[in-house]
Amino acid sequence: MSKNEILEEILKEVDKHPEIMSRREALKYLSVSPMAASILAGATVGATTVAASDATGKIVIVGGGLAGMSTAARLSNTLSNPDITVIEPNPKSVSYQPGQTLVGAGIWDKSDITYMRDDKLPSDVTLIKGSVTAFDPDNNKVTVDGSQEVSYDQLIIATGLMLNYGAIKGLDGVITSSGSDNAVVKEKIGKNGLYSIYFADGAESTWDGIQELIEKAKTHTGSEKLQAVFTHPNTPIKCGGAPKKIMYLVNARLEEAGVKDKVELTFYPNGSKMFGVPEYHEAILQQYKDRDFKWHYAHNLIEVDTANKIAVFDHHWKEKGEYDEDLEEYEMVTKHEKVEVKYDFMHVTPPMKAPDVVANSKVGSRKGWVPVNKETLQHVKFDNVWSIGDVAAVPMGKTGGSVRKQYKVLVDNLIASMEGKTTLPAAYDGYTVCPLITNIGTVMLAEFNWTKKPTPSFPLDPTQERWIWWLLKVYALKPMTMIGMLSGRA
Ligand SMILES: Cc1cc2nc3c(=O)[nH]c(=O)nc-3n(C[C@H](O)[C@H](O)[C@H](O)COP(=O)(O)OP(=O)(O)OC[C@H]3O[C@@H](n4cnc5c(N)ncnc54)[C@H](O)[C@@H]3O)c2cc1C
Repeated sequence: MSKNEILEEILKEVDKHPEIMSRREALKYLSVSPMAASILAGATVGATTVAASDATGKIVIVGGGLAGMSTAARLSNTLSNPDITVIEPNPKSVSYQPGQTLVGAGIWDKSDITYMRDDKLPSDVTLIKGSVTAFDPDNNKVTVDGSQEVSYDQLIIATGLMLNYGAIKGLDGVITSSGSDNAVVKEKIGKNGLYSIYFADGAESTWDGIQELIEKAKTHTGSEKLQAVFTHPNTPIKCGGAPKKIMYLVNARLEEAGVKDKVELTFYPNGSKMFGVPEYHEAILQQYKDRDFKWHYAHNLIEVDTANKIAVFDHHWKEKGEYDEDLEEYEMVTKHEKVEVKYDFMHVTPPMKAPDVVANSKVGSRKGWVPVNKETLQHVKFDNVWSIGDVAAVPMGKTGGSVRKQYKVLVDNLIASMEGKTTLPAAYDGYTVCPLITNIGTVMLAEFNWTKKPTPSFPLDPTQERWIWWLLKVYALKPMTMIGMLSGRA
């Protein structure tokens, strides 16, 4: 796509919600700031070409979400005789999950993020509409829906992850994925003060919950403020910024309605920092202080009493224990206490895990995630097995931004391997990006990699909140993902 075509796509996104910004305003921003236009177009196009290859072999991709479908498209662009099969049960598998945060805050509608799998399937790729129920890497085959055996020469595991709400007492049995419509989840989450943007219907009901909170705040006369609580669990999660983004957006909506002084917003993360990169940690702390947010580190949500709106956290810390004569040091002991918190509104970020079918098979690991070389994305035990996206055991790799870097690496390495090359040519450097929405209209674009240093793509201080990144997040990243990545080019 040319820059003009991409800019037209951005403007089409703008047109969908004139209440947020008119086309005229967007054009004004883009033309007043040539840098803005070039940043948006550059970030959006980012097209890369791939060298053609005559390599042959049957490639099976398990999971046709963002990672699986983008990889299928890029392989189909590259191979002169592609033999690619995607196995995916969900007809809406390519829906745009990063937009769920915006749906949760009433900025977008669910229809803005819903996309159909079959519309994004490259014409020369075979689709099996089903779920893999067993992996047999010793015999190069998988089983679909318990009965259909599918063999492969190369296997790519891109199943994403599971939202394990059920690990929290009171939400027992509630497990789902971001893309599925799950009635059991909706029985407990999305009503009575308890919300979660991590699944699409949950995002939609979060906006109802925010509006209810606003209405309650308007008539609230008590001396104690209403309590809005936001959690971050003790497992790796997809989009580590989302638990904070929704907090900033709730704050923005409360301010907009003139009821901010009636509600206290408190963040309860399991960890002991706001962000793993010190520069972003400091910037977020300052943003929290500026907004009068409260926070309590080392609090992991373990129980919810939905009827009485009480959250129970495991507060944990380390203390000096016995002195070890041999090691000549004190043993450090982890202490725990249960902390009960009454809430009027709570946003839960669930614990997350690899799907059981992966975790309990030979392709999984003790912790569940698929163990791959974090640079080449090749399985550590099976040379013809690869993994990408949320399910791969790659540090800090669970975002669409990571997938955008990973799928090019995976395709280059897979093809080199199919061509019989002994050295894999490409390496993933851990790049990821978190467009941290800090208000309606501003975003801090936190880009970083395994060095845990900011790695900005543009010559701007990355710790600052800017409207230009709001334009990028709200208007440019969706076309880049839905058109660029899913055609295997961006
Ligand atoms: C609320 C929210 C906000 C986010 N914000 C951002 C953001 O701002 N920026 C960003 O870059 N990323 C963001 N993300 C993360 C991003 O959407 C994910 O990292 C990305 O979708 C990962 O792609 P994936 O293909 O690994 O997983 P998915 O897109 O979830 O796809 C996995 C697919 O595998 C299928 N599957 C599962 N099990 C099986 C099986 N046994 N057999 C066959 N198929 C199977 C599933 O049906 C699913 O379609 C956000 C996500 C959420 C939920």
